[in-house]
Amino acid sequence: MNKHLKQLIELSDLDKSIDEFIPEEERINGALNDLVAEREKASRQIDELENLIVDTSYKIDKQETALVEHRDKIARHESKSESLKTEREIKALGIEQDIAKEQINFINDEIERLQKSQEDSRAKIADLKSRIAAIENDIKQAKSESKEALASLADRKEVLLANRAKLVEDIPQKVFAFYEKIRRWAGNRAVAPVKKQACYSCFMKISDKVYGEVIASSEIVTCPNCGCILYVAQE
Ligand SMILES: [Zn+2]
Repeated sequence: MNKHLKQLIELSDLDKSIDEFIPEEERINGALNDLVAEREKASRQIDELENLIVDTSYKIDKQETALVEHRDKIARHESKSESLKTEREIKALGIEQDIAKEQINFINDEIERLQKSQEDSRAKIADLKSRIAAIENDIKQAKSESKEALASLADRKEVLLANRAKLVEDIPQKVFAFYEKIRRWAGNRAVAPVKKQACYSCFMKISDKVYGEVIASSEIVTCPNCGCILYVAQE
């Protein structure tokens, strides 16, 4: 086999192995990122609930002011009732008093409902705070675990990168540049095996003539269909 082709096959295998670290790194970082996102979400929920409690306090203040007004009104009616003479006047005032009392009941119910919602919000905040404390613990643990895992990955990757650098030194610049150019669009399929007379990058059958050239492998042969570098795989 052509010496340079042999080097490119080796280089391509190394590049595949180096790229296999990417999903592994993502998986390790992903677990930690998920926890951080969960903590942020819980913090945001706490902020929202705290704002809601403040808004509700304003609403309660407003209702309490209205309550005072209605009570004053009732007191005024009561002092007025002594001076009333006709039955009609007395009846009209009675109706007004009933309405005011009803409104007071309604406002009291409303205040109770608002206070209840504040209590619910406070309970939710307490739950979220203990949830955050648990997540903080998980983050601490995940950080120390991922640190170890990433360090071990980095060590293994470094070995492969050193091997790659050494191999690249031996490959003529022109051959290496050719490989890199194909790799830019073909990725890790830049060097593809031929099996059953088909290119295993694009899976198209190659002609007898090209197949013969690949078998002879005295030159670097590319797939006429996809442009990848071809070699005969040991089947
Ligand atoms: Zn092809």
